[in-house]
Amino acid sequence: MKKKIWLSSPHLSGNEMQYIQEAFEDNWITSIGQNIDAFEYSLAQYMKVDNHVVALNSATSAIHLALVMLGTGSEDEIITSSFSFVASANPIVYCGATPIFIDSENDTWNMCPVALEEAVKDRISKGKKPKAIIVVHLYGMPAKMNEILKIAEEYDITVIEDAAEALGSSYQGKACGTFGRFGILSFNGNKIITTSGGGALVCHNQEDKDEAVFLSTQARDHAPHYQHSHIGYNYRMSNIVAGIGRGQMEVLNDRVQARRKMHDFYISIFRDIKGVNVFSEPTADYYSNHWLSAIIIDPEIAGKTREELRMALLEENIESRPLWKPMHLQPVFSESPYYGTDVSEKLFENGLCLPSGSNLTEADRKRIADVIFDFFS
Ligand SMILES: *Cc1c(COP(=O)(O)O)cnc(C)c1O
Repeated sequence: MKKKIWLSSPHLSGNEMQYIQEAFEDNWITSIGQNIDAFEYSLAQYMKVDNHVVALNSATSAIHLALVMLGTGSEDEIITSSFSFVASANPIVYCGATPIFIDSENDTWNMCPVALEEAVKDRISKGKKPKAIIVVHLYGMPAKMNEILKIAEEYDITVIEDAAEALGSSYQGKACGTFGRFGILSFNGNKIITTSGGGALVCHNQEDKDEAVFLSTQARDHAPHYQHSHIGYNYRMSNIVAGIGRGQMEVLNDRVQARRKMHDFYISIFRDIKGVNVFSEPTADYYSNHWLSAIIIDPEIAGKTREELRMALLEENIESRPLWKPMHLQPVFSESPYYGTDVSEKLFENGLCLPSGSNLTEADRKRIADVIFDFFS
């Protein structure tokens, strides 16, 4: 069997162990320490925001914490993108609130501003203004932030950005994850950089940062004994894990460039293949980290389906994956309100994510190209 080519696998820098070693030597191995401080600082520097980033144990907990900090409860409705990973929506349910799902638009595959406004108006007419909008930058592609922020402002609704897949992406030169009241990052094993598992909450003032640290470390009041006047969580990143993050931040720019190179590779592969479109930035306003390269196959024109291509790749031990199945089509969310048409449904039907890792070699690319050319010839 040929070596497995993964969709997106961890790619370490070599310096991670050094930072972990330092934490061992200092005996700072839990929720306080130099690695956490330095990792948070480097994220803030990278995203060009003030030093108010909070390292947490996952992006899922970061989204939950953002919702908790907004006071989200069972009476509330939270809007989010239907076309996303389930972790964008689950924390809404953790709060007992109702998720309202919005369809994609065709340029960025992200939240459709038209469907968003329709939803906001309809929810208000039914007697309830949504408490927040969680907008996702899927596969690293920035959402239509100008349009979405304008609607949020007009109706005075808080914006949370799920930038779990978009570290290194920007819209009109501004980093994804820095537009909303809160931004969310993920360092899960398959993301553009990893800490083995982890996330961050991007805040914009010291009060929010302090509150996020307080709530993520069990909400302990100032007292010599354990005293609590709030419900807390065990969501903080450990100083060991943050050491991996420090090592990864040193190579983040390289990782973004390598992922973008994979995207260019697919552009060249599919240039002369009819009926296949490589997902690309609609205009120069959008800068994607191209976390995952993805294609849409029009079976009418290509004469092939995405499932057939997936199987052909798999036969050569190459991993690919259908695009996210929209949340409004998931059994667990079948009762939740949905606004839009069938854009995300169509993307799911005909879309495929291709191997995109920053650690793929020239030989890997040749194997991928051979299967694809063979398949379409
Ligand atoms: C990966 C991911 C998450 C969850 O990240 P974790 O760190 O694994 O909790 C949330 N939203 C999106 C869009 C993701 O891709």
